[in-house]
Amino acid sequence: MLKKILYTIWFVLFCIAVFLSLKSTNFNAFIDMIENRTFDLRQNIMINAESKKADKDIVIVAIDEATYEYILDHYGEWPLPRDVYVKIIEYLQTQNPKIIAFDLMFVKSIKSSNNADAALISAMQKYKNVYTAMNLDNQDIDLRKPPKLPEKLAVNIKNYSDITFDELTFTNCRAILEGILNSTENVGMINVSRADDGILRKMPLFVKYQDKYYSQLGLKVAIDAINSEETNKVDKHNFVIDSNSNLLLGDRKIFIDKDGSAILNWYGNNTAYEHIPMYKLIKVINGEAKDSGFDFKNKIIYFGTTASALFDIKTTPTGRTVPGVEVQANFVNNILDNNFIVKADKAVTIFSGIFLALLIGLCVMRINSAFTASFASVSIYLLYILTSYYLMKYFNIWLEVIYPLILSLLAFISAFIVKYIIKSRDFEQQYKLATTDGLTDLYNHRYFQEQMKMAVENCKRYETEFSLIILDIDFFKKFNDTFGHQAGDAVLRQVAHILKKNVRATDIVCRYGGEEMSIILPNTGKDEALTTAQKICDRVAGNKIKLNSDKEGHVTISLGVATFPYDGETSSEIIDCADKRLYNAKNNGRNQVGKNI
Ligand code: GH3
Ligand code: MG
Ligand code: MG
Repeated sequence: MLKKILYTIWFVLFCIAVFLSLKSTNFNAFIDMIENRTFDLRQNIMINAESKKADKDIVIVAIDEATYEYILDHYGEWPLPRDVYVKIIEYLQTQNPKIIAFDLMFVKSIKSSNNADAALISAMQKYKNVYTAMNLDNQDIDLRKPPKLPEKLAVNIKNYSDITFDELTFTNCRAILEGILNSTENVGMINVSRADDGILRKMPLFVKYQDKYYSQLGLKVAIDAINSEETNKVDKHNFVIDSNSNLLLGDRKIFIDKDGSAILNWYGNNTAYEHIPMYKLIKVINGEAKDSGFDFKNKIIYFGTTASALFDIKTTPTGRTVPGVEVQANFVNNILDNNFIVKADKAVTIFSGIFLALLIGLCVMRINSAFTASFASVSIYLLYILTSYYLMKYFNIWLEVIYPLILSLLAFISAFIVKYIIKSRDFEQQYKLATTDGLTDLYNHRYFQEQMKMAVENCKRYETEFSLIILDIDFFKKFNDTFGHQAGDAVLRQVAHILKKNVRATDIVCRYGGEEMSIILPNTGKDEALTTAQKICDRVAGNKIKLNSDKEGHVTISLGVATFPYDGETSSEIIDCADKRLYNAKNNGRNQVGKNI
């Protein structure tokens, strides 16, 4: 019964803990932070296991430290003059690349001449495979007036999910050259979604600005790359997000997390893609080299900064400083390979957590050895971690591990506590069984003997005294014979009750055997013990004893009292002495305290 109650209490407390933790936003933020770290760990192990190979059709033209040095040496300043970009575009087009994308923003600059800007604008207009970037933000209108963006840049989204894009709604825009905006559709935003810890694990697919949606640069690039090769064309102006939070791109699906971003599946550090430093291309257009030594045919070429000396240092799960352009390349790669990470539903996490907790709770409850139970619990959880790793590796599924870990720990600890309580209660019960008499609820003979020995030891050590009263019910045999054994038992119980009521809490009342009882009175001298004995004798004699439902009777007792150390030096000597005096009381007419004759 008690076990059932404890199990129930345990389960209820457990449910309350689950409920409270689910309600607390701080707690959830904390869990998310640690969970993100486990995501990083999984991604890193996967990358080190070289299970993922980046698409070699994507080439990064890196504005790296070497390029930065070259540009300062040859042009005396950064940024690079716009006409150099134009020449690079013209040169690359001769090699028939699939796409040329600039993860760079061509903003209005007083350093750039109108002519150079115009040249770039016309190049962008001329080539339909050239892309560039813009960035949305929440800058104050004091700095710049929020510009109007051309209609054709906006996209339509049919959203059947509960994603709101609230976190991706911006009030201002770092607009690029107006000429570019007006001459091409190939402008995508390059906003990123950083987690609270500053690490970039996600990329927004769309942002909202002035009530319209704008696509990520990588999304535009990837869709055009798909459409140039595959028969199943993807609409790049009209998008559908299904009720399971997937953006549908033809045969592909991109899972969108609740904050409106896709979770990147990392291809690794900056060696995952083919790189060519940009200065090699500048050398070609400046006539310093015949060619770049690289074949760009059919490649998706991504221009972007990688140099830590510049500005675009990103911290990502797979390394401290994977540069911005790598993130764009990774994003495009995830679309082409259709392998964005899908986060398992919260319900799956809770279910897994509760399942693990129950399993571990059961282990702890059922397995006797604490070591084996702990070992089994840890093994269960490790198995779960392994499952989560392989789910990510082979199915791109992010199964949360921290929330289930907390539930498992809670279950583990509380199950141990409950088990301990049950065990200690079992022990108490067994102890009681071993020391008490079932009929009278008095201590039994064995306990009496132990306590007698202890009393003698104590009194010797502290030079104090104690007394013993032994008593026997008078003519009990006759009583039994007349009224029956059941009535006899009732008498025994009631006499025991009278004894307990009339002694101190520190006195130990025992059933000596049969209808003989004994009382050990610690720190009690002879006179005091005799008084107590007499009081008990009178109380028993004066009490009506209920024999059964309609009969009452009277019993008397005879008592013998002995006191340590005056009447004996050992426990048995004291018992003998008290016994003799009890015998004297019997001989003397019963219903009295025996004298020392
Ligand atoms: P006296 O002590 O006054 O000399 O007479 P007595 O009749 O009490 O004699 P004795 O002590 O020999 O009798 C003990 C009786 O107690 C015998 C037995 O039937 C009874 N008795 C012992 N244990 C129990 C018990 O647990 N229940 C009942 N009903 N009777 C018991
Ligand atoms: Mg007797
Ligand atoms: Mg008797």
